[in-house]
Amino acid sequence: MTARTSDIEKAAGVLRAGGLVALPTETVYGLGANAEDPAAVARIFQVKGRPSSHPLIVHIGSAEQLDDWVQDVPATARLLAEHFWPGPLTLVLRRGPRVPLEATGGLETVAVRVPDHPVALALLAAFGGGVTAPSANRFGQVSPTTANDVRAELGDAVDFVLDGGPCEVGVESTIVDVTGDAPSILRPGGVTREELEAVLGLPLTVPST
Ligand code: AMP
Ligand code: MG
Repeated sequence: MTARTSDIEKAAGVLRAGGLVALPTETVYGLGANAEDPAAVARIFQVKGRPSSHPLIVHIGSAEQLDDWVQDVPATARLLAEHFWPGPLTLVLRRGPRVPLEATGGLETVAVRVPDHPVALALLAAFGGGVTAPSANRFGQVSPTTANDVRAELGDAVDFVLDGGPCEVGVESTIVDVTGDAPSILRPGGVTREELEAVLGLPLTVPST
């Protein structure tokens, strides 16, 4: 299902005004805010009851926008972005000045990805900026996969729910840290280690569990 153009425009306006928008992604509904608005980002933590030290993922509209948000992008990161975006791959890179510390839990690095969902991409294109979006549930609760789930979970705490139909129940994004000398997988997810290694042509370090 695709959202109506008027709903996309309305959601973009809510983001510009500092509000919170629930939006569909390929995995679950996210609770989105303008990534450059510290007060809006702070509201995400408040509504979710999420500790403010837990960093958020900044969603952007295309790989070409990467340099607007981060610094010191290594060739490995560009290769991965070109290959897997839009898709379930999150890259951790050095934070650029547009990213407030509220979004990164105080870290000098930031997690970025391009979601593979037509409604999320339409919203990002209409809005033009980056959207920080963790799952649209309160801390410790199940992640919502329909617009009705979001309304039941968050009620009036979210300013607009952009209905894109039910999300395909997918796995979370794979998180790869590309700030060091060698890329390393911080969290396994939709893109496998083998797929990453095939593109990079080198072995990756994985988390010790
Ligand atoms: P979620 O809350 O499901 O959107 O997941 C966000 C994930 O990204 C969490 O596991 C965070 O720890 C991780 N994350 C976000 N930013 C960073 C960062 N700068 N460095 C490392 N991990 C990060
Ligand atoms: Mg979550």
